[in-house]
Amino acid sequence: MDKFDVIVVGLGTMGASATLQLALRGQRVLGFDAHHPPHSFGSHHGESRIIRKTYYEDPSYVPLIERSYELWSELEARAKARLMTRTGGLMIGHPESGLVSGALQSARQHELPHTILSKQAMHDRFPVFQLDADMVAVHEPDAGVLYPETCVQTFLDLAAARGAILQYGEAVRSWQATGDGVSVATERATYRAAKLVLAAGAWLGELAPALRSNLTIERQVVLHLQPREQTPLFRADKLPIFCLEEAGGDFFYGIPDLGNGLKVGRHYAGPKHTNVDTVDRTVHAGDVDIVRGYLTRRMPNANGPLLSSLVCLYTDTPDLHFALDRYPGYDNVILASVCSGHGFKFAPVVGEVIADLVDGKRPTFDLSLFAATRLLA
Ligand SMILES: Cc1cc2nc3c(=O)[nH]c(=O)nc-3n(C[C@H](O)[C@H](O)[C@H](O)COP(=O)(O)OP(=O)(O)OC[C@H]3O[C@@H](n4cnc5c(N)ncnc54)[C@H](O)[C@@H]3O)c2cc1C
Repeated sequence: MDKFDVIVVGLGTMGASATLQLALRGQRVLGFDAHHPPHSFGSHHGESRIIRKTYYEDPSYVPLIERSYELWSELEARAKARLMTRTGGLMIGHPESGLVSGALQSARQHELPHTILSKQAMHDRFPVFQLDADMVAVHEPDAGVLYPETCVQTFLDLAAARGAILQYGEAVRSWQATGDGVSVATERATYRAAKLVLAAGAWLGELAPALRSNLTIERQVVLHLQPREQTPLFRADKLPIFCLEEAGGDFFYGIPDLGNGLKVGRHYAGPKHTNVDTVDRTVHAGDVDIVRGYLTRRMPNANGPLLSSLVCLYTDTPDLHFALDRYPGYDNVILASVCSGHGFKFAPVVGEVIADLVDGKRPTFDLSLFAATRLLA
């Protein structure tokens, strides 16, 4: 078989985006996925993902998310598809919480439009919440919802149209550096390329063993619920996406009703695994009770009949930042998919960064937070 410019392992969120960016730059790309994305075995299923700019996790994500917004818009125009709905966003908690103080730090440092809402202002504008007297919210107008299955499908369709060869249902078993590139062995054959992109999500540790002991797979449960009251207040034209941090650090988030009920999940605090195969994929009554507990306290009228539920996977680093870098010791191997449960919104810009790394260009962003060396055992 011919030698390719780049092989991409994993055609989920980050691999699909990288494949498109590489194909747009004229690279001869061969992509593999063990499944047929979009699918529900990894991290990109569930109908919706939050996108927001007031990044409480660290202000250095803001330039990346601003570029991502531009690229999502370009992608919508290129594909003539709707990938995003802007709803605005609410980061709710006590003023000293990491969520509120971090969101404000990002907003102020990067001069992002935002408003601080008191408990009373929240009650007046968004009466579905039941907050403590000293709770506040940072409201940002640009936040919204992405449609992940459509996004992944769009990346893949456009990449294929630009000549990328996409092999579905073909798992990569191993890879090795050769004198002039890499060779990649799948269950069917061995392929050669100059560069390799590892975007295997929750399976990355199997292909990047030097990082494995610092990667944790976290089981996450998400519910879609029918609000108890027949009211438009939970609809996407009335309710922004929201994140809420409780005094003890407990954190849950929600996505307004887009026609399939209000989506709610707990962020982090799920069971941790070192191997994807050991994750329990069934949603149990106890999982539902945890999420309903938040709603009883903070959004009682949302706590109606369960419409659907699912288990999805985070792949976490110890500091909960990404891994986006060359694989230590291999200049032509790039790691692209450890996103600690908050990566979807960045998919287009991650694809662009990967394409720059493949091209040998210096990325225009500060990626020091995402260095792979911090994850070596
Ligand atoms: C419940 C939940 C809610 C989330 N909410 C948000 C949110 O609101 N906003 C946000 O920005 N992010 C959110 N995220 C995080 C975001 O979805 C993930 O960070 C992102 O989807 C990870 O993309 P990925 O490419 O790493 O993984 P995936 O999209 O899972 O892709 C990995 C791919 O690699 C393939 N693969 C694995 N091993 C092999 C192999 N050996 N050979 C070939 N193929 C292989 C898999 O089949 C898979 O298709 C959420 C995640 C979850 C689980």
